[in-house]
Amino acid sequence: MSNITFIGLGHMGNPMAKNLIKAGHEVTVFDVMQPAIDALQKEGAKTAASPTEAVKNAEVIITMLQTGQQVHDVCVGDQGIFNQAPKNVLYIDSSSIEIAISRELHKMAEEKNIAMVDAPVSGGTAGAEAATLTFMVGGSEKNFQRAKPILEKLGKKIVHAGTAGTGQAAKICNNLILGISMIAVSEGFSLGQKLGLDPKKFFEISSNASGQCWSMTSYCPVPGIVEKAPSNHDYKPGFMAKMMLKDLHLAEHAAEDVNAFIPLGAEATELYTRFVEQGNGEVDFSGIINFINQN
Ligand code: NAD
Repeated sequence: MSNITFIGLGHMGNPMAKNLIKAGHEVTVFDVMQPAIDALQKEGAKTAASPTEAVKNAEVIITMLQTGQQVHDVCVGDQGIFNQAPKNVLYIDSSSIEIAISRELHKMAEEKNIAMVDAPVSGGTAGAEAATLTFMVGGSEKNFQRAKPILEKLGKKIVHAGTAGTGQAAKICNNLILGISMIAVSEGFSLGQKLGLDPKKFFEISSNASGQCWSMTSYCPVPGIVEKAPSNHDYKPGFMAKMMLKDLHLAEHAAEDVNAFIPLGAEATELYTRFVEQGNGEVDFSGIINFINQN
C-alpha cells in the first residue's frame, strides 16, 4: 500500500483515483473544482486544500490534467508541487501534453530528486472505470519499474515506450490515428445511411470486414449500436471534442518539429476546429458524425 496523491479528478482522474482506493492505497486528492474533490471523498479519499498540501506525505504523485500548461503550473508554478514533494517521490504524469513540456519537467524533476515518468493513457472513460487502460510510459527503466505496479491497478497493458517524453510521443501518434479514424467511421456511416443502409446492418458487416477499428467497435458514433459509447448518452463525454482538437494540434506541432507529412491530420484538425467553433467543444468527439451528417 502506498500514499498516493492524485491531482485532476475529471472524466479520467475520477475513476482512476477510485480504482487506486479500491486497490487498497491511501489516496489524497486535489482538483480546482470542489465537487470533483467531494465525489472522491465519498469514496474514501483524503482531501487537501492545495496541491502543495496534497503532496506533503506522498510516496507517489499522479496528475491527470487537461493541458501541458496546467501540468507545468501544478509542478513548477507559484504553488508548484516540485518544491514541496518529499525527496525520491515517484511522479507519474498521465495527462496528454506537449513532448517539450514533458521533457522540461523530467529535467526539473531530476534536479529535485523526483523520479518522473510520463504515462499518458488510451482506453477512454470506460477503460478508466474498468481499469483496462493502456499506458505508454517514457522515462528511465528504473522509474518505469517503480511505476509499473501502480499502473497495473489502472490498466491492462503497460508499455515502456523509451526515454523521457516518448510516452507523450506515442500518445500523440495514437490520437492522430483516433481523430482521423473517428472521422472515417463517421463518413462511412453517414454515406451508408444516405445510400439506404440500416446502420445496424452496416455495423454488422463493417465490424467483420476491413473497415473494423476501435472508433467503430468500441466507440461507435451512431447511437443504438455500442452500449457504452457516448453516442448512446446524447454525446455526453467521454472525451471532449476540444481535447481531441488539443491532441491534433499537438500532433501538428510535433510533425512540424521533425518535418513529417501528416495531410489527413491537418484535415482532421480543420474539421474538429469547425466542429468546436460551432459550440461543440464539450460534446464528445464522436459527435463529429452530426457535423458530417449536416454538411
Ligand atoms: P477533464 O477536463 O474531465 O479533467 C481534468 C481535471 O483537471 C478537471 O477536473 C479540472 O478541474 C482539473 N484541473 C484543471 N486544472 C487544474 C489545476 N491547476 N489543479 C488541479 N486540478 C485541475 O479531462 P479528462 O477527460 O479527464 O482528460 C484528462 C487528460 O487525459 C487530458 O490530457 C486528456 O487529453 C487525456 N485523456 C482523456 C481521455 C478521455 O477519454 N477523457 C482518454 C485518454 C486521455
